[in-house]
Amino acid sequence: MRFLFSFIVAFTLVVPALAQAPAPPPVTVIRAGVLIDGKSDQTRRDQVIVIRGNRIESVSDAATAQIPAGASVTDLSHATVLPGLIDSHTHIFLQGEEPEQGGYDANILKYPLALRTARATVAARRALEQGFTTLRDVETEGAGYGDVGIRMAIAGGYIPGPRLIVSTRAISSTGGYNLEGYAPELDMPKGAQLIDGPVEARKAAREQLDHGADWIKVYMTHRSWVGKNGELVSQPTLTLDELKAIVDETHGWGRKVACHAYNGIGLQRALDGGCDSIEHGLEITDAQITQMVKQGTWYCPTLAAYYHDWAPADTPEGRRDRKRVSVHGPSFQKAVKAGVKIVFGTDMGGIPWTEAMAQEFPRMTEFGMSPIEVIRSATSRAAEMLDMVGQIGVVEPGAYADIVAVKGDPLRDINLLGDVTFVMKDGGVFKNEVK
Ligand SMILES: [Zn+2]
Repeated sequence: MRFLFSFIVAFTLVVPALAQAPAPPPVTVIRAGVLIDGKSDQTRRDQVIVIRGNRIESVSDAATAQIPAGASVTDLSHATVLPGLIDSHTHIFLQGEEPEQGGYDANILKYPLALRTARATVAARRALEQGFTTLRDVETEGAGYGDVGIRMAIAGGYIPGPRLIVSTRAISSTGGYNLEGYAPELDMPKGAQLIDGPVEARKAAREQLDHGADWIKVYMTHRSWVGKNGELVSQPTLTLDELKAIVDETHGWGRKVACHAYNGIGLQRALDGGCDSIEHGLEITDAQITQMVKQGTWYCPTLAAYYHDWAPADTPEGRRDRKRVSVHGPSFQKAVKAGVKIVFGTDMGGIPWTEAMAQEFPRMTEFGMSPIEVIRSATSRAAEMLDMVGQIGVVEPGAYADIVAVKGDPLRDINLLGDVTFVMKDGGVFKNEVK
């Protein structure tokens, strides 16, 4: 018996080495009419992109390009080809909850996690269909570590979707997140992990990192309203000491911290505490802009999201909704002028996934960003923030073969990015409507 066993072991160890080598990775060639590579200001005409397996092998002029024998050729010579797009602020576990369907609270109180997970897979697929091959998904809103599971399902090839960079549960303080407004006797579940004090803050970060968070998401402001003098006020949540404990822990793991911050004290603490990216940043003072440039803090504005679902104009909420929009555009304009590092983010999930992610692009040009900079904010700039320079957000040798195409020239009409006709992720074609 022992002999038989060792024979089997020897046999299984030796035979695979004798068997034929694994099939070489497939080679695909894309003919690009116009190429926007995600990095440079210049577009290039008539390019040939050679893809071997899941990586780009070469990019060259069609006139001189060598087409490898046996390659399958995709003709995008009447299209503009770009790197796969990156959305740095999404929530695949939110569905733009409608108040008449119970709003945000119903999501947590009534829906089985399986339903929320099923809908998250649809959201992921929707993003990929629209040309977004990478998402930084900034918290699951009460769905725990569901995003880690979806990330694994996509990476394992079980479901289609963008590569996901996930932040799991997010962190806020007591009184700093929903569910709210219930009888105090009830111990309600919360949409984020609530902490008080630097010890609990660090422990929450450790737990989330241990369970698979790629980034840590922190809420530095929560409620907002219009103050006595007509100004936007937001309630600060974490103290500077609490945030510093989280940032210190997270940086020790070689990871980064994204801070939801509207304005005021909470935004100032986010900057002083060493946040890597400011999310939303509705109202940023000149001094804060200077501090962001100096510290290299990333800015992920989400302009379009705040044009949704305004309450009636003559209510406190309605005045708040309008005030948020009126300060966000000018803050973005100042940031662009000052050279703050800006990434594209939609806050999808806050917006229903049935809507177009591309609605954020024209908002960015409306407030003074050039179309090529807008494209970079959704490609190579985001890759820089995500520490994936040269791997995503660029069409160049060595990068993952994440490639999209649109008809026409998006540098003339940024809205064309809303009509992606070809999507390749990791060398696999997900969508091809190019005739
Ligand atoms: Zn958000």
